[in-house]
Amino acid sequence: MAASDDTQAGWIAGFLATLAAIMAFALVKSRGSYIDLRGKSKRVEYRRGNLAGIIKRTFRRGPGPATRKLNPKKVRGITLHQIGVRTVGPGAHRKMTAHFSVGNSSRDMGQVYWVHPFDTWLAASNGGNDDTLSLEIAGLYGRDSIVPQAVVDGALRAIQIMKFEAAKEGITIDRIYGHRQFDDGRGADPGPDLWRRVAMRSGLQVFPNETRGDGLTLPDHWLSDTRA
Ligand SMILES: [Zn+2]
Repeated sequence: MAASDDTQAGWIAGFLATLAAIMAFALVKSRGSYIDLRGKSKRVEYRRGNLAGIIKRTFRRGPGPATRKLNPKKVRGITLHQIGVRTVGPGAHRKMTAHFSVGNSSRDMGQVYWVHPFDTWLAASNGGNDDTLSLEIAGLYGRDSIVPQAVVDGALRAIQIMKFEAAKEGITIDRIYGHRQFDDGRGADPGPDLWRRVAMRSGLQVFPNETRGDGLTLPDHWLSDTRA
């Protein structure tokens, strides 16, 4: 074989290798940035201060299914939700349409779950879907309900972990809304006790009179404890 043929073969091999690398990169990018652990969860331990303890994360980083992307540059806050059913088991959390959730069953009281990565857009909060992360609290809480202390503690810890993890991705979380503010069909979501003991003690700004779409302002009895 002539020297010029060797050179040409080498050039073609190099070109094909580069093309393959570009195509592989494009495939990974188009398929998203996480792998669903399919019913399993990974224990992640935090050691510092008010984050300390174990959370359960239902995904790991890597090429995964394509999902609609949330633009992290737009995100500034959290939308707080109650599930609105009395209780759900630990298995229900990995199917939750929320970025974070907190358990309330006898098997996972106060457990924090990280269900979706922050760059995943979720149909969770109506008008708040583009600029807030969603936090779903297990339980059914009416006007006079008292949320168990372990659930309140879990929710406050979830907010601190969301802030900490969001900061790593260049997202600053400085405000919190109730789902009700974005949807009049969710008038009881998250309800007065979660609002007072979680949102108003989270250190995040609240805007009780701000609404979007057909959302509702927060009623006075959510903002101050008027119970006897
Ligand atoms: Zn909700």
